[in-house]
Amino acid sequence: MTCFAGLDIGSTAIKAALVDERGELISSSVAATGSLFYKNTLELFERLLQQAGLRREDVAYIIATGYGRKLFKDADDSISEITANAVGAHHVGKAFGGVRTIINIGGQDSKAIRIDAEGHVANFAMNDKCAAGTGRFLDAAARNLEVDLEELGDLHLTAERAPLNINSTCTVFAESEIIGLLANGHGKGEVVAGIHYSIANRTVRLAKRVGLEDRVYFDGGPALNKGLVAALEDELRRELVVPEHPQITTALGAAILAHDAYLREGE
Ligand code: ADP
Repeated sequence: MTCFAGLDIGSTAIKAALVDERGELISSSVAATGSLFYKNTLELFERLLQQAGLRREDVAYIIATGYGRKLFKDADDSISEITANAVGAHHVGKAFGGVRTIINIGGQDSKAIRIDAEGHVANFAMNDKCAAGTGRFLDAAARNLEVDLEELGDLHLTAERAPLNINSTCTVFAESEIIGLLANGHGKGEVVAGIHYSIANRTVRLAKRVGLEDRVYFDGGPALNKGLVAALEDELRRELVVPEHPQITTALGAAILAHDAYLREGE
């Protein structure tokens, strides 16, 4: 079997996706990036092949994307994560009637991308300067609250009172603010909801810079957090398209581009 791979080497997590000859997803996998980019990417790739029952020779073309894309020398090519995300979201979004705006929140950055009806990037905006609107903020909050990252979504939904205002514009100060709120007797649920609304607020401002167009697709690891999804839907006043596996959209886009590049080179 011939297949094509996309490797999204993010600042926090590496995502790998394989597509078949029709460009459809066969398998995907996620691992922490750590400090050894090359080694960890290679190990994830080998695990993905094993999981899919395939051999290295079955993979005809590999495209790397993401923050560490240049470091993975075994790839046939590399591409920006904006392009790969657009292609992945366009592909997955077809089942939802097509998407035109993408909101991506990653481990250390957040992006808004507007795409045309063919999935080409029309405009994008990025925040990679401030951790407060990113997954790193959520990781720090979970640590401060002594809960697992995966629990944040449920905690948000159990909040009995209105979300608290988290005013700090910097993660370090926000961490002190969170500790202060807990010390003053506020429940974890209202604090978590406050954090989610604070991220949602920043994200909406970013998205408005590219011009929001329906339907809006939300991806990246933090899209697994249903509390954050709810806050973002509330702030945007519209429902979001959240795929089943939001963290792998960009890797899938890279795999689809690998498939297309292989066909083009064949011609
Ligand atoms: P990057 O591509 O920048 O490495 P990702 O899109 O992989 O980022 O997102 C990483 C972030 O996703 C983490 O910082 C974490 O906050 C969040 N995340 C990962 N898994 C989960 C989960 N199961 N539930 C909630 N959030 C998650």
